[in-house]
Amino acid sequence: MMSTLKPRHPLYLLVVWCVLLTAGVVEARVGGGESYSGSRSSSGGSSSGHSGHSSGDVFVILRLIVDLIQLHAHHPRLAIVIDCVLVGLIIFYFNSRDDQAESFSSQSPRREIVSDRQPIHERFDAWRKYDPNFSEHLFFDFVMGLYANAHMARGKRQIAAYSPFLSPEARQSLAKMAPPELAEVSGVIVGALHVIDVALPGPMLRVRMKFEANYVEKTQDGKEHTWYAVEEWSFSRERDLLSKPPGKLQSNNCPNCGAGLELNPNGSCKYCQMVVKAGSLDWGVDAITLVGREQRGPQLTTTVEDVGRDEPTVFQPNLGAARTRFMEINADFALPVFLDRVKHIFRELQKAWSSRQWDLARPYETDAIFQTHRYWIEAYRKQDLRNVLDDVKVEQIKLVRFGKDAFYDSITCRIFASMIDYVEDAKGKVVRGDKKTPTKFSEYWTFIRSRRATQCQQPNQNCPNCGAALKVNMAGECAYCGSKITNGDFDWVLSRIEQDEAYSG
Ligand SMILES: [Zn+2]
Ligand SMILES: [Zn+2]
Repeated sequence: MMSTLKPRHPLYLLVVWCVLLTAGVVEARVGGGESYSGSRSSSGGSSSGHSGHSSGDVFVILRLIVDLIQLHAHHPRLAIVIDCVLVGLIIFYFNSRDDQAESFSSQSPRREIVSDRQPIHERFDAWRKYDPNFSEHLFFDFVMGLYANAHMARGKRQIAAYSPFLSPEARQSLAKMAPPELAEVSGVIVGALHVIDVALPGPMLRVRMKFEANYVEKTQDGKEHTWYAVEEWSFSRERDLLSKPPGKLQSNNCPNCGAGLELNPNGSCKYCQMVVKAGSLDWGVDAITLVGREQRGPQLTTTVEDVGRDEPTVFQPNLGAARTRFMEINADFALPVFLDRVKHIFRELQKAWSSRQWDLARPYETDAIFQTHRYWIEAYRKQDLRNVLDDVKVEQIKLVRFGKDAFYDSITCRIFASMIDYVEDAKGKVVRGDKKTPTKFSEYWTFIRSRRATQCQQPNQNCPNCGAALKVNMAGECAYCGSKITNGDFDWVLSRIEQDEAYSG
């Protein structure tokens, strides 16, 4: 076969190789494509340019290689020159392919979301240029409420009532989760809420959240099944809107007129007659993905290693300037008082957890985080287990971030602590951890306070509004005067806990 091939003119060879290279026939598979699936904003058609190499291409390349070898025999000097030019061309070609791949990835909306090297807080800050009222704390509270309401509506087969918040696709995904014999969904509690990614602001603001939750499904024959579910929800909203102030964005109120969510058969609000499209007036859900669900409670007896305590602390960029700004606005702020509050809340929460008495934690937590803590306390109670936390020692508190939005100030601390941490069953048998060796760990805790609040002079033991001994109902209101004391109107309350490995600044 080889002998039948005649040597070609060197110039001819060079031209053919150049044409082949620029046409991409000799392209090695660059970047293999994204593994994300099921996403609306995927990389589009840009990764589907080349559909593999035909056998014809391969033959042409082989033939050219053979030509080149023959050329070495007939015109060795010329062949070496062509070799050099070819090598140069190939290097140039692959470099330019890499550049293209990079510039593509920075333009792709999907990649913008995925490459979350930029801290989440900074992403949210970028949103505030368009919506100065945007508040993470209010958003998280809303998201948790909507999750619970939507699942309960699924149980009653009334998901359509949530059309101002849920897109048709999202409603369909929820409806699919309901078995035909479903009669009710109750006890919806979110155990963990994660921010998966925050998109750079485009015409829409987008954020993906992951829920770990428990709920109880009751079937028509009266049987109850407890589910542990993991779901991803994609939220979006038009960028140029102004977020509503605290207490106004609620998932059971019409986003247009604020009346209770009641719709006419055509989907319009019974009170203002408006048909609200999800995401047009306030946050809406584009898509819901059920990552998985199992009929079980959460796993309480498996040991989770504390990793990350030795990791360097993640400080806010320009922490000094942010701190100075914060002090200027809050002239009354006294650091020792704040640190006492942090330590007090830290110890009270460990106590509440250990004794499984959620009401001990209630005065110190925003609604969203209280719901998650209640979930865990209830989970231990249901499984007749107790997570004992003893000998709690706060070793160090590092202030890592001063944040503010239109309604709240926030301070994030990295708390280094140690404690005895074990789980015992009803008979007192240790089923996880041990009673002797203290566990050392660190976590990032974010505290918020309403910007209207001033430093509380008489913290911790009494209602900051009426002065009565601190007794708070499930809604976080003082049992005597009824004022809500867990929204940060009076003093710092805990709004978020993040593990070392999850905290991005
Ligand atoms: Zn309305
Ligand atoms: Zn009171």
